[in-house]
Amino acid sequence: MKAARLYEYNKPLVIEEVPNPVITDPTDVIIKVAGAGVCHTDLHLIEGVWAETLETELPHIIGHENAGWVHEVGSAVTDFKVGDPVILHPVSSCGKCLSCRAGEDMHCEKLKFSGLTVDGGYAEYLKTSERALIKLPDIVDPADVAPFADAGITAYRAVRKAAPLAMPGTKVVMIGMGGLGHIGVQIMRELGNADIITVDRDEARLNATLELGASNAVKADHNMIPNIKTLTEDKGPDIIIDFVGSDQTHADSMKMLRKGGHYFVVGYGGTVNVPSLNIINNEYSIVGSLVGNYNELYELMVLFGRGKVKLHSTKFPFDQVNEVLQLLHEGKINGRAILVP
Ligand SMILES: [Zn+2]
Ligand SMILES: [Zn+2]
Repeated sequence: MKAARLYEYNKPLVIEEVPNPVITDPTDVIIKVAGAGVCHTDLHLIEGVWAETLETELPHIIGHENAGWVHEVGSAVTDFKVGDPVILHPVSSCGKCLSCRAGEDMHCEKLKFSGLTVDGGYAEYLKTSERALIKLPDIVDPADVAPFADAGITAYRAVRKAAPLAMPGTKVVMIGMGGLGHIGVQIMRELGNADIITVDRDEARLNATLELGASNAVKADHNMIPNIKTLTEDKGPDIIIDFVGSDQTHADSMKMLRKGGHYFVVGYGGTVNVPSLNIINNEYSIVGSLVGNYNELYELMVLFGRGKVKLHSTKFPFDQVNEVLQLLHEGKINGRAILVP
């Protein structure tokens, strides 16, 4: 099959012929990839940011936002058959450890993460387990929904944590209106009941969020904090959901969060630097959020099925993978890019 593999950090991926994945465990499933979302985490992987944490062996096939059709099933697979359209939770979890039994696939002790710790979806075929699959309605092209597998559930999990706090009158600031952010706004509109203020550098992205449920959109420039203060009666937001996670967004967030406020960190790369005196004096809650579990992906697909969450995306031919990664790096992808093999 054709695959794009990472041989060396900070180098373009190599498109080449590699052997197809084979079933080795009775619960394995081989998927014919319909589409793979292109994510900032892919850029971080190529930069080597995850190298020590994951101990990924090179060459490696990246791509963790995958959907497609069941191509082959192991002998113990009972709920799926060849040809079924599916979206893949990015993790194959064991189902037996305490985290799995609590429903937290991301914390599985034997977790295999497609595209991070095992080969992913920048290829024609990929191997996962039956536990990771959610069946799609026949009318959906799996390629169209692939980014929900990570961009979608990552936004969903963070907003699901914040939504019970988002009551009428609550001010929620959401920073970064790219792949995750534009989905997050719609989920907050559905699960919460707050005033949503979106933040981005790009005016077109910001204006689009006003159609998705934001009450105000604020440009990320030197007037951002005063503008947000004005929109929050000078008190600052009750909730901030940070889909960017840079030193700048961390610092800005800690400058404007209201007393008793909640700061949800979803994007990553920077360092949250806040004196403990400020945390206790303001009773801040600083909460991390990591991807999402199987049930959260299921819930998101129910919302999608009801027509409540729309995904802005552009499809690219697989051979353009390196060009697409470059465009994402330059901030030139609106919504999500999807590679189609
Ligand atoms: Zn991702
Ligand atoms: Zn487990």
